Amino acid sequence: MAKDIERILFTETDIRAGLSRVAQEVAAYYRDAPCTVVSVLKGGCLFTADIIRQLPVPLRLSFAAVSSYGDGTTGGRLSLDYFPTDQEIREQRILLVDDILDTGRTLAFLRSALLKQGAREVKTCVLLDKPARRTVTYEADFRAFVIEDVFVVGYGLDFAGSYRNLPYIAVLRPEVYAE
Ligand code: 5GP
Ligand code: MG
Repeated sequence: MAKDIERILFTETDIRAGLSRVAQEVAAYYRDAPCTVVSVLKGGCLFTADIIRQLPVPLRLSFAAVSSYGDGTTGGRLSLDYFPTDQEIREQRILLVDDILDTGRTLAFLRSALLKQGAREVKTCVLLDKPARRTVTYEADFRAFVIEDVFVVGYGLDFAGSYRNLPYIAVLRPEVYAE
């Protein structure tokens, strides 16, 4: 895997520092009221696992999964592959946790599904934010890092299903995408 990496954007140390910073903001926000963390599969699961252990507040954990059909790049239709139960959502304060906020379509779609299901409030926490790529209006309430418009892998983020287990966040060599 290491031979496919062009450059490392965030080392394990960088990630740990960004995560602690954002965890403090999240913990302060939920200090007085329990929340339900909805982790967005698959990419968001590593960030979720790490951040919830830095949140000394009462919380429950659930998951959601969305897939995109169509041309595979931007315009495809979104479908809900997995969604928390009614009971997990209704009247709850939800914290959506994902790896990256890119066009905003995935999180906007999930947010509206959660509100439709009766969530009292939906906030969003992402590890990475790529504001340059946004096609729908969506802002994260909590974010660890803002990045420019580059495709990154590692720490949950994949390319064609691989590289999620890299402990750092990196840009791949262009040859890898061309293969
Ligand atoms: P959005 O719906 O905001 O465009 O994108 C959300 C999903 O697109 C992310 O959860 C992630 O799966 C994928 N994505 C967006 N940007 C990147 C990136 O730079 N690298 C990887 N590996 N996935 C990305
Ligand atoms: Mg994702």
